[in-house]
Amino acid sequence: MLRTHTCGQLNEKDTNREVVLCGWVASRRDHGKIIFIDLRDRYGITQVVFLPKPNVSVYEKAKKLHSEDVVRLQGKVNPRPKGTENPKISTGLIEITAQNLEILNSSQELPFEIEDAMYTEVGEDVRLVHRYLDLRRKPVTERFILRHKLNQAFRSFLNSKDFLEMETPYLSKSTPEGARDFLVPSRLNPHKFYALPQSPQLFKQILMVAGIDKYYQFVRCFRDEDLRKDRQPEFTQLDLEMSFIEEPDLFALMEEMIAYAFGEVFGKEVKLPFPRISYQEAMEKYGSDKPDGQEFACCAFSANPSKQGAEVQESLRFAWVFDFPLFEYNHEEGRWQACHHPFTSPKEEDVELLNSLGDKEVTDQHSKNLSRVRARSYDLICNGQEIASGSVRIHSPDLQKKIFKILGISDRAASRKFGFLLRAFQYGAPPHGGIAFGLDRLYAIIGGCESIRDVIVFPKTQKGICPLSDAPSGVEERQLKELSLKLKEEK
Ligand code: ASP
Repeated sequence: MLRTHTCGQLNEKDTNREVVLCGWVASRRDHGKIIFIDLRDRYGITQVVFLPKPNVSVYEKAKKLHSEDVVRLQGKVNPRPKGTENPKISTGLIEITAQNLEILNSSQELPFEIEDAMYTEVGEDVRLVHRYLDLRRKPVTERFILRHKLNQAFRSFLNSKDFLEMETPYLSKSTPEGARDFLVPSRLNPHKFYALPQSPQLFKQILMVAGIDKYYQFVRCFRDEDLRKDRQPEFTQLDLEMSFIEEPDLFALMEEMIAYAFGEVFGKEVKLPFPRISYQEAMEKYGSDKPDGQEFACCAFSANPSKQGAEVQESLRFAWVFDFPLFEYNHEEGRWQACHHPFTSPKEEDVELLNSLGDKEVTDQHSKNLSRVRARSYDLICNGQEIASGSVRIHSPDLQKKIFKILGISDRAASRKFGFLLRAFQYGAPPHGGIAFGLDRLYAIIGGCESIRDVIVFPKTQKGICPLSDAPSGVEERQLKELSLKLKEEK
């Protein structure tokens, strides 16, 4: 190791210790006969003192330090003189008297100052071009530390409940339903395309047919949507599926998972169970399927920078909304579509209603009956935003075919698009259901962030551009040829 300690580690107990630290020069203050630098790394800041004696060459070198130079220095831990202590930081009672200084790399003049406030005058566009500088700022790093800790807590909870973490393909099949797919041309199969998954929905259902029983995955999902609102073309889900469960089982388990994670990471108690409201009641009482009410407060937070570092949202108000309609009419396309997705089971009580519908009625946009069919789907709402969504699935091939019919998906189209799922269903599909959390949104709410971009390390802009790498970019003619692609002339 090039260092003996980190910049957040030393305190008065280390007095007189000889140490070697590495880090970035956060600031330099030249007081004539004495130079101070604040040395920063991910763990904190340590004050370093340079004196002209006994080693003037080290002192002269320190005079030339710039902000964000990377240095390695050797020195001795001393208590700070009385009256100069800084009780706000863990290293605030000591300083290092430098004996040796090595400049590992110097920094150019910075495009912006590395400030500790989360939101600064510097525009997000500039910050994202230089995200590596932005990430050196404490409140920014802390968001990702928090994300890491919550991810680990969710993982360890699910592991303790016998879930298996499994990875499903990113190079997948286009199943045009829901959002637009991102397509990837296949070199080995000219004229054919993979699609990046909008979610691992079909794969996780097939894992249930395979007897996996409890599955989870932290998974990237890709949706080529217009990036209105607070959306990203790629985002992360905590995706789960379970066999032999019903809604109350899943609600209770997910509540327990959240309570466990908040207990582990924040030391907070979460009031369980979360309120459970039917879609109809939510619409009648709150006029929204994403209701928010003070009575939903399940976890009280107060900003506690000393414990967690990152500022977190005052109260978190959770509620389940369930029994959504199964179908909604898409006026643009003139057809009924699934409110959640086509694999969601209707409520048992409404299957009869579904079976009684004649061929004509299933395409009638004014069909009262179709709009009355309820789904076994549910959303978890936090502070008026949907943070998770899922359903109990259809596991009967016949019922699945019927739903496809209503959705205007012919037998042939169904077998072309979803044939692999329907085939699997013929070999003993267990009753199953699941849910997926939009982790970026959840973490943005918890962190009190203005945008989900604040909790994504390298986010894209509203135009889908990565400001850091400048993707997407043009490619060489040779690459297109290999893919059997030809571009239209640009207008
Ligand atoms: N795959 C669904 C989604 O992405 C979630 C689920 O039904 O489990 O919304």
